Formats: sequence, C-alpha cells, structure tokens
Amino acid sequence: MADFDVDLFVIGGGSGGVRAARIAAGYGARVMLAEEYRMGGTCVIRGCVPKKLFVYASHVHEEIRDAAGFGWTIPSATFDWPTLVANKDKEIARLEGAYTSNAEKAGVTIVKARAVFEDAHTLRLSTGETVRAKTILIATGGAPNHGAAIPGIEHVISSNEVFHLPKFPKRIVIQGGGYIALEFACIFAGLGSDVTLVYRGDNVLRGFDEDVRTHVRREMEKSGITILTGCTVDKVEKHGESFTAHLSGGSSVAADQVMFAIGRHPNVKGLGLEKAGVALSPTNGGIAVDDFSQTSVPNIYAVGDVTHRINLTPVAIREGHAFADTVFGKRTVRVDHATIPTAVFSQPQVATVGLTEAEARAQFTHIDIYKADFRPLKATLSGSESRILMKLIVDGQSDRVLGCHIVGPEAAEIIQAVAIAVRMKATKADFDATMALHPTSAEELVTMRTPTERHVRQAAE
Ligand code: FAD
Ligand code: NDP
Repeated sequence: MADFDVDLFVIGGGSGGVRAARIAAGYGARVMLAEEYRMGGTCVIRGCVPKKLFVYASHVHEEIRDAAGFGWTIPSATFDWPTLVANKDKEIARLEGAYTSNAEKAGVTIVKARAVFEDAHTLRLSTGETVRAKTILIATGGAPNHGAAIPGIEHVISSNEVFHLPKFPKRIVIQGGGYIALEFACIFAGLGSDVTLVYRGDNVLRGFDEDVRTHVRREMEKSGITILTGCTVDKVEKHGESFTAHLSGGSSVAADQVMFAIGRHPNVKGLGLEKAGVALSPTNGGIAVDDFSQTSVPNIYAVGDVTHRINLTPVAIREGHAFADTVFGKRTVRVDHATIPTAVFSQPQVATVGLTEAEARAQFTHIDIYKADFRPLKATLSGSESRILMKLIVDGQSDRVLGCHIVGPEAAEIIQAVAIAVRMKATKADFDATMALHPTSAEELVTMRTPTERHVRQAAE
C-alpha cells in the first residue's frame, strides 16, 4: 500500500466517475478524481439537464397555443433566448458546485486536470504531477461524432455548442434521426424556429418500435417540422451570418445554424491506454469490460459512456456504484443491463421499456399486440390535433408483458413506473386487474382488453 499515493484514482468527474468516487470514499478508500473540464460531466453540463430545461422552455409555446380553448386570452408572447441561456447557465453552475462539494464532503480529492496513463498504476496530470494508484477507474465519457469531413464541416455545430449559441436561430437544419436530433428539432420548433431534420435512413429512431417511429414522425410533422429522409448534408456554405446546407439529393436548405447529431464516440483517444495495456472492444470501440466493469488489466476498471454499452446517465451511475461496492465495499454487485427504460424528450415524448414488436416476434412464437391511438381529453378543448400512442407487447403463451411503448405527453414519467412492473415480469392479467386511474391517458394501459393483433409463428418446416 505504501507504494501508492491513493487507493482509487478516478478519471472523469461525470455521472459514473463521481458516483464511484463518493461511494468508494465512503468505504474508507483514499480517492482522487481528475476532471479536465467541469464537474458533473456531460449530463449536468451539456446533456440531460440543460436539455430538459430547454424542453420545458419550448413546451410553454404549446401551453400558450392550447390556452385559448380553455378561455384564456394571452397577449402576444415573446421569447428571449439570451435570458433562457443565462438562467440555464446559472442552474448548471449551481449543480456543478453541488457535484464538487458533495464529492469533497465524501472525502474525495478533486484535481482540475487532464489525467493520462503512464503505466497500469501511474497517471500523469496536465499539471505535471504523477500519481500512483492501486486501482484506477476510467470514466471519461464520450463526445459527439462529426462524420465525414464534408466541405464546410467547420460551420457545423454539435450538442456541445448548441447550449451556448449567442443568437437564436430562426431557421435550423439538424442532421440525424436519433435522440439528440429529435430532441433539439422539437426544442427549436417549440421556441419558434423553422426546423428541417435531415436523416439518412427511411424513418427516424431506428431500433425503436415501428409504430412508435411512424407515430412520432407524424406528430413532429404536424407541429411544423420538415423531416427529409433518405438524404444527408453533403456540404455547408457560409454567407455572412447564414448558411446553405446542400443535400445529397441535389436540393439545399437555407439556415441560420446547421447542427449534426449523428452519434457519439467513447473518449479513449490520447488516454495512454496502450501504455497501461487496456484493450478496446473490437465491436464498439469502447473500453472492453466484463460484467463487473473490469478491463483487460485487473486493477483498471471502466464505467459509463467510455465503455459504449448503454449510454444513459442512470446506467453510468449504476455501473459506478456497483464498481465501488464490488471493489471497495466487499459486496459483489453486477449491473443488470436488461429491461432499461429510456425516453426521447421529443415533443411528443417517446418512452419505452422492454422489447419492440419486431424483437418480440423474433424471440417468441405467440405475440399479442394491444394498441391504442387516441386524442387526449385535453385536445377536445384545446383543439390540438395531436394523438397519443400506447402499445403493449404480450407473450401470448405466458401472458407476460414484454414491452411497453408510449408516444405522448409525460410518456417518460409513465414508463418509469411501468418499468417496475415489466421488470417484475407482470402479466397482462396483472395490468388488467389494476384499477384504472381516471381521467388519465395512462389508464389505457390497464383497459386495453382485446388484442389489436395476434401473431403465431409456425415452427420451421
Ligand atoms: P460523462 O458524464 O461524459 O463524464 C466524463 C467526464 O470525463 C467529462 O466531464 C470529461 O470532461 C472528463 N474527462 C474526459 N477525459 C478526461 C481525462 N483524460 N482527464 C480528466 N477528465 C476527463 N442520458 C440520459 O439518461 N437522459 C438524458 O436525457 C440524456 N440526455 C442527453 C443529452 C445530450 C445532449 C447528450 C450529449 C447526452 C445525453 N444523455 C442522456 C447521455 C448522458 O449524458 C451520458 O450517458 C452520461 O453523461 C455518461 O456519463 P459518464 O460518467 O460515462 O461520462
Ligand atoms: P443516436 O445514436 O441516438 O443517433 C444517431 C443518429 O445519427 C442516427 O439517426 C444515425 O442514423 C445517424 N447517423 C449516424 N452516423 C451518421 C452519418 N455519418 N451521417 C448521417 N447520419 C448519421 O445518437 P445521438 O447523437 O442522437 O445521441 C447519442 C447517445 O446519447 C444516444 O444514443 C443516447 O445513448 C444518449 N442520449 C440519450 C438521451 C436520452 O436519454 N433522452 C438524449 C440524448 C442522448 P442510423 O440510425 O441510420 O444509424
């Protein structure tokens, strides 16, 4: 032990790193954590939290629009982007402070520096010092992909810059069809931008349930977002303060901002992993780990986005906590990566847990589908044309609910609770036996009596 300056060195002060550091320190370990940018990491500084604050801002528009049907006359409302950005920055600075002080209170020593490996036990800090650690946790997260080096790529922003635009873009082109592209397309549309979403495939949210993909796309188009599929942005030209995005099909779109949200890569470059002997996964390019987040080097672990498994904050936190329990708490904890609920904070929201219909039909022979596509009660007075989708996927043999998919207001809040039932292997009969809570949209989940579709796969000849 005397050989080591600390018991645990954590690289990265984001969701996974901070949780692991605090819990390990709580078990009595001497912990040092290096953060090269801002404490809190992606989620707090330029991810989930500021994004959700922007989503709230953007929803106000819908509330104002819906108000007239309920008798309200609202004088013409105006929106000020710099105020939103400044208020968001204030809250993010507060959270950054809380992350720092909570870690320090737990006994973690924080160094504001970049840390890279010298060998499997030694880290070199950008301050010039070296630290020897018995155990090292890599929690360096990920960063936005920028794609191919198309002409004008230097004019394109990513989710890193979008939180600090000096000027509100009246017109924005967003490339991508995943979480970030949809969330920001809806944020900007709600705030009043003219939004064009450019996606290379045939429909957005590849990997989600097909009905969900169709429904959310239709709803986004109803709200005025232009969705162009089967094409890519091939060139971006700057003219003064505006841009032209040239698309692969030959057309072009004028914009005040062009943003790419085309996936993220794990932060492994320049970390000196080769000096430590840490192997990368040949399939996803993240750090290869086992079920306990241990890398190919026994004293080095990795959690969160840098492992490129499931890139969500609660997953990084769980992995960090489980690592600390296992290595410092003498309590072996394995993170269960199955049945993880997830939401896209588009407008309407998409939220899902469990299998899609396609996945279920591939894995089970008898699948029953329960689907409701309806206008919410609120729309009767607001006049909104929006519709809600609720879908349950049920194993026709065991009656177990295998998946639940919702597109609609507060879908994420609903799915968080449904996820408990799905994880507990609740059956459709359990859902049916649960009393409805009226009047809600979620009551559909316990009142869909008859399957809308039944699929029976015949045994292969
Ligand atoms: P991070 O939080 O990225 O932390 C890594 C930290 O390491 C960073 O602070 C970085 O500066 C630091 N670092 C890197 N290299 C070094 C080094 N060599 N030395 C010192 N420090 C270093 N997830 C959700 O669950 N819900 C959401 O709504 C959601 N919204 C998102 C919105 C956006 C726009 C983005 C980009 C992501 C969103 N995510 C969301 C994903 C979520 O943010 C990540 O999964 C989560 O932050 C991963 O945590 P982490 O600890 O692995 O890494
Ligand atoms: P996603 O993986 O969700 O989506 C990437 C999108 O970009 C896909 O539509 C993909 O198309 C497309 N794409 C990929 N490469 C290219 C390319 N070279 N040219 C054109 N299009 C391309 O990534 P995001 O960047 O949206 O988000 C990253 C991750 O962060 C998410 O996967 C999620 O884990 C996390 N996140 C979670 C959020 C939440 O929980 N609410 C919110 C934001 C992020 P295709 O489908 O055809 O491959």
